[in-house]
Amino acid sequence: LNEHLMEIKQNERKLLLRRPNIRRKAALEVLTPWLAPIIWDGTYDLRILNNQFKGKRIGLFVLAVKKYIRFLLPFLESAEQHFMVGYSVTYYAFTDNTAAVPKISLGAGRTLNLLEVEADKRWQDISMKRMQILVNLTHDRLPKEVDYLVCADVDMVFNDHVGVEILGDLVATIHPGFFLTQRNELSYDRNPESAAYIPYGEGDFYYMAAFYGGTVEEINKLSTFCHKGIVADKKKNIEAVWQEESHFNKYLFFNKPTKVLSPEYIWDTNLPNGDLVKKRRFLAVHKNHIDVRN
Ligand code: UDP
Ligand code: MN
Repeated sequence: LNEHLMEIKQNERKLLLRRPNIRRKAALEVLTPWLAPIIWDGTYDLRILNNQFKGKRIGLFVLAVKKYIRFLLPFLESAEQHFMVGYSVTYYAFTDNTAAVPKISLGAGRTLNLLEVEADKRWQDISMKRMQILVNLTHDRLPKEVDYLVCADVDMVFNDHVGVEILGDLVATIHPGFFLTQRNELSYDRNPESAAYIPYGEGDFYYMAAFYGGTVEEINKLSTFCHKGIVADKKKNIEAVWQEESHFNKYLFFNKPTKVLSPEYIWDTNLPNGDLVKKRRFLAVHKNHIDVRN
C-alpha cells in the first residue's frame, strides 16, 4: 500500500510539472473528503475481502436492445472470465429480442435471466429507460434474489479482475475522461430548469453511469430519484445534457457513495493519461455511434 501511495504521489508530481493548472486534489487519491475509499489496484487485500463477502449473491444488470444486442455475448463471456469469479452471480439482461441472443454456457453458480423489454425510438430514451427498469426490478424481484446489484453499459468488456473489492452500499466509478478535471469543468447539467442541475462551484467527482452498484435498497433509491428527475424534465420538455448520467451525478452529489471506483473500472483506450491507469479492468468497446444507434 505504501509503495502504491508513493507511486500515486510521484505520478501527481509528474502531472503537476506537465500541467501546472491541474487540480491539486486530482482524483488519483485513495480517499474521498467524506472518507470513502477510492479503489485502485494495490489498495486492498482480496483475501480479507473475500472472507468479508463470502456467500454474497451478486446481480449484474445490463440492457441490450436493437443493434446493441451484438455487444451482449462478448460482455457476458468476458464477465464469465473476470467478474466475481467464485461467487453466485445472476445476470439480468434486458433485450427487445431474446431470440437473437446467442447461447452462452455459464460457470457453476452463475445464471442468466434474459428479460423482454420494449425498445424506445431514440437512443437517449433507451439509455434513460434503464432507470425505470431498475426501479421495478429492485422493488419486485431483486430483494429475494441478490444482496448487491451492479449495473453496466453493454458496450463494454471485462478485461481484468473485477471482484468484491467493488461491493458496498453505494458505489460509483469516476468517469475516465474527467479524473483530472477541475470542479468547474466537470460535465454536470448546468441548466437550473433541469432536475439534474448542479451549480458551478459544487460537486465532487464526475461519475460515469456505465458501471455502478450497491445494495438492492440503495439502487432502488438511486434509480427512483433518477427516474423521477427524467420524468419531471420531460414534462418541461427538457432533457439533461447527459441524460440519466446527469441525474445520477445529482443523486451522488446529495448521497455520497460509500466507495468510489477509480478509472481502472471504466477505461477507454482512446483516452489521454492512460499511463496513470495501470489496470484496465472494464474497457469500452469502440463503436460507430451512427451505425449502432440507428
Ligand atoms: N443501449 C441499447 N441500445 C441502443 C442504445 C443504448 O441497448 O440502441 C443501452 C446499452 O446498454 C448502452 C447504454 O444503453 O450501453 C448506453 O448507451 P451508449 O453505450 O451508446 O452510451 P455511451 O457509452 O456511448 O455514452
Ligand atoms: Mn456505453
